[in-house]
Amino acid sequence: MESALTARDRVGVQDFVLLENFTSEAAFIENLRKRFKENLIYTYIGSVLVSVNPYKELEIYSKQHMERYRGVSFYEVSPHLYAIADNSYRSLRMERKDQCILISGESGAGKTEATKKILQYYAVTCPASEQVETVKDRLLQSNPVLEAFGNAKTLRNDNSSRFGKYMDVQFDYKGAPVGGHILNYLLEKSRVVHQNHGERNFHIFYQLLEGAEDELLRRLGLEKNPQQYHYLVKVEKLSGRKFNNDDHYSLSLYWRVNGQCARVSSISDKNDWKIVRKALSVINFTDNEVEDLLSIVASVLHLGNVQFADDEQGNAQVTTENQIKYLARLVSPLNLEQAAYARDALAKAVYGRTFSWLVNKINKSLAYKDAECPGRRSATVLGLLDIYGFEVFQHNSFEQFCINYCNEKLQQLFIELTLKSEQEEYESEGIAWEPVQYFNNKIICDLVEEKFKGIISILDEECLRPGDATDMTFLEKLEETVKNHPHFLTHKLADQKTRKSLDREQFRLLHYAGEVTYSVTGFLDKNNDLLFRNLKETMCNSENPIINHCFERSELTDKRRPETAATQFKNSLSKLMEILMSKEPSYIRCIKPNDAKQAARFDEVLIRHQVKYLGLMENLRVRRAGFAYRRKYEIFLQRYKSLCSETWPMWEGRQHDGVAVLVKHLGYKPEEYKMGRSVISFFPNLCIEGNVLDYMK
Ligand code: ATP
Ligand code: MG
Repeated sequence: MESALTARDRVGVQDFVLLENFTSEAAFIENLRKRFKENLIYTYIGSVLVSVNPYKELEIYSKQHMERYRGVSFYEVSPHLYAIADNSYRSLRMERKDQCILISGESGAGKTEATKKILQYYAVTCPASEQVETVKDRLLQSNPVLEAFGNAKTLRNDNSSRFGKYMDVQFDYKGAPVGGHILNYLLEKSRVVHQNHGERNFHIFYQLLEGAEDELLRRLGLEKNPQQYHYLVKVEKLSGRKFNNDDHYSLSLYWRVNGQCARVSSISDKNDWKIVRKALSVINFTDNEVEDLLSIVASVLHLGNVQFADDEQGNAQVTTENQIKYLARLVSPLNLEQAAYARDALAKAVYGRTFSWLVNKINKSLAYKDAECPGRRSATVLGLLDIYGFEVFQHNSFEQFCINYCNEKLQQLFIELTLKSEQEEYESEGIAWEPVQYFNNKIICDLVEEKFKGIISILDEECLRPGDATDMTFLEKLEETVKNHPHFLTHKLADQKTRKSLDREQFRLLHYAGEVTYSVTGFLDKNNDLLFRNLKETMCNSENPIINHCFERSELTDKRRPETAATQFKNSLSKLMEILMSKEPSYIRCIKPNDAKQAARFDEVLIRHQVKYLGLMENLRVRRAGFAYRRKYEIFLQRYKSLCSETWPMWEGRQHDGVAVLVKHLGYKPEEYKMGRSVISFFPNLCIEGNVLDYMK
């Protein structure tokens, strides 16, 4: 048998807290590398799980594996998603406290796969009954449907989620899943009308063309070939204007080269179509509803093919009459540019609202009905958050601004719930310890969201200002209002040296995870997210029941301005934070090992960057300064009382005293543990032996 020491050399430690050189980032990454090489993709930092995407199927998700983690304490088995899932589930059952599992990481790091595996774990291991089986099925089947409409192939990930998702699973008093609810965030609507080279539109378009039977395609007026559709692959020249390489916005208006990759080797649209069709019926869609939904998908494709030409007055005329029989006419006199803009705005609005409708419809089918006692809040809730990670591209726009703001909020929550609360717990337990310094990113959250002075407020103000407001006037206002902020910079505010790296229409934020430079081009427009009134009217008259539901007549008469996109997002994030704050959190931090989507490739530079912005070193320092193992007295006593004749079968005295007897009996020295007011804590090095033994099992 391999000795404990060489095992450790080979496979590293399963909890970073056990690293001897725990402040060294190099040692941290070396440990990840060792484990990754051995296909050990999971490692803990205390109770936080770090996961590295293996980019290959591993034999660690079978039913037997699930059984191994069921009801077993965290530290007794090797690190796994299932341990986190099981631990949360047990806390939910034993303490009846709502839980949440927060999964973060950059695009392609494995967040969605982790979410699905956790749901599968609950579907297999939780109690069953006929009614519960239906709920389990629906919870699982909501995934392929949402992925068809909300995921797409990008350069980073062949199945990239283009929306944020928070899913609650409700459990009854027996611990069976009895319902669910999904909240969706900021679908990337712009993808409907434009994709970068090498990327695709949302999966559903290709699935429909590739998978649907001929009769259905005929009814929808569609041809099988994606090359026929401008919104999918066609090179489209919208006007004779000169191609302007510096101006991305006019690039998308006048010359559009969409994705150009209808087929992706890792994706079978035909198969996926079958899965989605089946899933739709599991979540209660009637045949009519399916047809209504697909006719919307088809009409977006038709809409994309509507072309315009100038008439004598310089107004746009629709030149593709053939398409129009499937669509309502675009009526108002617009010039070419406005007509193309209006068409795309309509396509985005129709798709975006249909997506929200879809989420609502799924929610109805997942709604928990307490048959025994309607109205009683008998369910406890476990939430799963799968939301876009921090994004830095060469060209960063409004979408990246929102996504990165969301990550600031999640980091803030992490600080509040983990770093800060851990330190506070030691204080309240009366345990002496050295406080650890960490960067509190509240200052950046405030910069973005503060009333009147924050970036979103200033953006909204410019959006509301009638007259000559432009992206540039917004930038100037920003410069005036937040000029001395340590996390904000523009060309004008920068010193001579830095100025070279900034264009006039850019601003730079120093995020907790690093610098990001945003171009303000398109900010006002995307924030306003307005649709021409007559297009709205046309939609309100639609006979398609889904569209009818999505475009309510009251919108036409409502004089109030709709909330801007950024404010809507800010409000929905603030609600999300409230939801998460009320729950006990667990964290899964996902890491992407390389950009090539390949197995067994460990790109150190890429990984180091992720370790930094996931805040893992900080997390480790706090954990290490604290205690690796903490348990409430009653739980510790309950679990280990059988090891000592004085505490078995029952300890009659104070729990504190019982624990003291027990640890003394087990041979722990006073310097190896601390007893607080209600918790016993052990120093990290004590776990080493247990961990090494675990590898040798
Ligand atoms: P995005 O932010 O773009 O949605 P993501 O973090 O959700 O990205 P996933 O879609 O979960 O990323 O993972 C990307 C791909 O990586 C998957 O399609 C799958 O091929 C692979 N992958 C992720 N996790 C695992 C795993 N545990 N085992 C095997 N393959 C995995
Ligand atoms: Mg995803």
